[in-house]
Amino acid sequence: MYSCGLTVNDYMHIGNARVYLVWDVVKRYLEYSGYKVLHVSNVTDIAVEDRIIREIKALGVSFQKFIEDFTRFYFEDRASLGIARANVHPLATQHVQQMIELIEKLVRMGFAYAAEDGVYYSISKFPAYGKLSGFDPKALKAGAGGRVSGEDYSKESAGDFSVWKSVKPDEPYWYSPWGKGRPGWHIECSAMSMLYLGDSFDIHAGGEDNIFPHHENEIAQSEAASGKPFVKYWLHTRHLFLNGRRMSKSLKNYLTVREAVPKYGAALIRFFIVSSHYRSQMDFNETDIRAAEPRLERFKEAVNLMHSLANEHIEASRDESQLTASLEAARKGFQDAMDDDFNTSLAITNLLEFIREVNRNIEPEKTISSGTASKIYSFLEATGGILLGDLFDREILVTVPDVVTRLVRTLLDERDKARQAGNYALSDSIRDRLIQAGSEVQDTKTGSLWRLKSKAR
Ligand SMILES: [Zn+2]
Repeated sequence: MYSCGLTVNDYMHIGNARVYLVWDVVKRYLEYSGYKVLHVSNVTDIAVEDRIIREIKALGVSFQKFIEDFTRFYFEDRASLGIARANVHPLATQHVQQMIELIEKLVRMGFAYAAEDGVYYSISKFPAYGKLSGFDPKALKAGAGGRVSGEDYSKESAGDFSVWKSVKPDEPYWYSPWGKGRPGWHIECSAMSMLYLGDSFDIHAGGEDNIFPHHENEIAQSEAASGKPFVKYWLHTRHLFLNGRRMSKSLKNYLTVREAVPKYGAALIRFFIVSSHYRSQMDFNETDIRAAEPRLERFKEAVNLMHSLANEHIEASRDESQLTASLEAARKGFQDAMDDDFNTSLAITNLLEFIREVNRNIEPEKTISSGTASKIYSFLEATGGILLGDLFDREILVTVPDVVTRLVRTLLDERDKARQAGNYALSDSIRDRLIQAGSEVQDTKTGSLWRLKSKAR
């Protein structure tokens, strides 16, 4: 699996985050399903635009320092959202040689040609051009269809695209058979994906704005060079809007991961984003994200209740077969939703419905046998680990150190003794003080249970 990574010349915004979050969920679900996944995701540490060069100059730092800083921020921001590292994160700057070799091959085969300002790929030489995006080169307006040197262009202005750009003043450069310059962005992904995954591989993922021209151009380059099908499945995440509008720095409608995490918390951001199917457009706004909070809280409550019950050694005091049957149905419901093009939206709805059912079933005592609780917990841990990634352990499950568990247990034993002796003043005082300290105490037929109150977590 190959997914297009960030161009590291800015902080990751919440729209980029959606894309990386989705591929993290996809990878984790494929592994849950028994697939062995080799995930490669590039870091575009080359692409330079005039705007970026101006910014770097204004900052008074070197190009290298600027790129290194933003590469580090990129990995910090991914980690803050619980996104796992890919197996390989190739840096474009470390693979220029492979890109030059691929361009040489394309030139030799007649698909690319040298021009005064670099090397271009001739889209008319690749008859299948347009098969991913539905672009038809014959439909180009008169005057269009020349050469385009920029990385992003529309179908209206499409034409031969640049795979090698001759150096302009102040730009970083590499040596090549076509003089000093740098590789284009599209050739970067073709060269690095094929290097690590071979000429043909299963999944290529990106944002919807990558479909044209980026992925269309990758297909043209790779399939021309190898003569083989490049990718089996293309996955594209739709846009995330911010307050109903496209994100734009100049229009001040922009939110970085670094601003959003302290405001909402990483788990809520991740949960909210994956609550929507990756192919539906979604809007990030205060009302909707706050509305997701009680849903996440319900999941968190269930995880911690099941975790503490599982560790209590409680024997079954009634027939729990209905609960076990619901668990098996919930497992199937989760898998069916995820098997249907990774429908995380339905998977989460099913999961919360199951939790509601568990809560109904275990009232009024709020207890079940540790054996059943443990099975339910394992399911919540597996699904939570897919949807919330590394945040499951970091922010959802609250583990209490053993020593605390033993100390509270000692207090509860003393409280039971006091109650048996009729010393209710002492037993109530112990309970009140445990509650003040942030725990919940619950008396059941089989003894008293305790857990941390959600607000104290
Ligand atoms: Zn790419």
